[in-house]
Amino acid sequence: MVCQYGEQLEKLVKEVQPFTANGKVADYIPALAKANQDTLAVSIYDGNSTCFSAGHSSEMFTLQSISKVLTLALALMDHGEEIVFDKVGMEPTGDPYNSIAKLESLVAKPLNPMINAGALAVSHLIEGESTDERLERLLQLIRDMCGRPSVTYNREVAQSEFNTAHLNRSLAFFMKQYRIINEDVDQLLDFYTKQCAIEVNCDDLARIGYVLANKGRNEEGVEIVPFEIARLVKTFMVTCGMYNSSGEFAIRVGIPAKSGVSGGIVGAVPNEIGIGIYGPALDEKGNSVAGMKLLEAISSYYDLSIF
Ligand code: GLN
Repeated sequence: MVCQYGEQLEKLVKEVQPFTANGKVADYIPALAKANQDTLAVSIYDGNSTCFSAGHSSEMFTLQSISKVLTLALALMDHGEEIVFDKVGMEPTGDPYNSIAKLESLVAKPLNPMINAGALAVSHLIEGESTDERLERLLQLIRDMCGRPSVTYNREVAQSEFNTAHLNRSLAFFMKQYRIINEDVDQLLDFYTKQCAIEVNCDDLARIGYVLANKGRNEEGVEIVPFEIARLVKTFMVTCGMYNSSGEFAIRVGIPAKSGVSGGIVGAVPNEIGIGIYGPALDEKGNSVAGMKLLEAISSYYDLSIF
């Protein structure tokens, strides 16, 4: 089947490609510094065919903060809203994703699940006897969403982050003091860094976005994520998905999206398509510079803003 989004994509990618020069590859997780600054790729999935554009759509990268969307869905499936939102709030923040500042004034309850503190509190809720079991449950959800049973995590990236995650450890210790979490901090960091290191390509991300866009169902109509949870997750993507750029992104792009410091972005256009983007050159807030430009161009060309 011909995909209506196919033809123009290549052109749009070429147009925004120069923006890759305006960003910088993340290096605070040493293994991420190996990424190629010039890469820019996109996939769109409409439930019928994967419509690829640029030359790198099969290149693998790690989810990083995109995993926050998926752990939130799994924690809600495990426990329901009441328990999850007892540990984490629902409000956007103007602070950076790794900020510790607000934890003190809020007696350690993180503002939302899309910042690191909130994601750690959510990961703490994932059911499982061991890190392996928790990770396997999360991987299974992701495999179901992208229809690729071989999805796994990158050990080198996970280890590299685990060795250097001093700030995330601080957030976790702070929350442990105030009983938001009550497990061993290194055990939680082990799970969190592995979750962030789950490896995908643009096609996988587009399929993940599609399930969220399609009310939690895959292209065959099978429910992967309950409707209400898919709705809730997409709402967080709008209000908090691009960190402290979420307001401007909503105005310029208007697509529920979540980014990660690997340079990935997942987008979900309700009832239409899923979008997967990879462009590792980041702006100072940690979002893919060219990736955001590309989403803006795609949204404008195909009239995809939800607003
Ligand atoms: N693993 C990264 C971290 O915790 C994820 C952050 C991100 O992608 N913004 O710092």
